[in-house]
Amino acid sequence: MSVVTTASTSKDISRRFTMMICDDSNIIRRKIERELNIDRLEVVASAANGRIAVETFTRQPVDVVTMDITMPEMDGIECVKKLVQIKPDVLILVISALSDKATAIEALKSGANGFLCKPFSDWQLTEALEELLRGAQ
Ligand SMILES: [Mg+2]
Repeated sequence: MSVVTTASTSKDISRRFTMMICDDSNIIRRKIERELNIDRLEVVASAANGRIAVETFTRQPVDVVTMDITMPEMDGIECVKKLVQIKPDVLILVISALSDKATAIEALKSGANGFLCKPFSDWQLTEALEELLRGAQ
């Protein structure tokens, strides 16, 4: 007899995650969405800067966020701090250029969970996000 349950535990490998993409470049946002190849991770929102990301996240607090650093209106550092205040267990992957490295380290100190350098390949993106999800289990 099989037991069907909708309850998921933190150890459940089949747990599904929602994701928001935050980057001021439309090209990068589309690239992340297109190259993302993880069945249990679903992109449900995107934001063109930190301010929009905070507004969207307040309405719909997703599980995972990819975060650019250099953006108009509100940068990635400030945005990470605000998202973590709203939902402390949010998983944030900073995706930023090497020239932003010192700032990316600051983002990690502010509550981000991982860092991926631009430019990145589809498998690097998948690997970085898989690592992030493993950290959640
Ligand atoms: Mg940018």
